[in-house]
Amino acid sequence: MGLGIKKEDTIVVIAGADKGKRGRVLDVHPAKERLVIEGIHMIKKHMKPNNTYKQGGIIEKEAPIRISNVMLVCSKCDKPTRIGHKILENGVKVRTCNKCGEVTD
Ligand SMILES: [Zn+2]
Repeated sequence: MGLGIKKEDTIVVIAGADKGKRGRVLDVHPAKERLVIEGIHMIKKHMKPNNTYKQGGIIEKEAPIRISNVMLVCSKCDKPTRIGHKILENGVKVRTCNKCGEVTD
């Protein structure tokens, strides 16, 4: 993915059961091409009692979803967009919004 979706980005889900939902990116797994999104693709997990969950039992937790199932939401125009890139005058590579053309970093 290179400079694709990063932690703390806002994305919208474009396929699957959570289609249309927005969320904040909590984690990126580039090798697996998956993302963990806050509040998206919640799965129930059985926990043994430990220091965090004294009682154990079932908790709900975000499961990773495929990067191809989400689009970045532009921080400038608030629309789902494909990510473009450009090099600034100082040589820094930044991400741009293909909808409004603004830098989204
Ligand atoms: Zn935009």
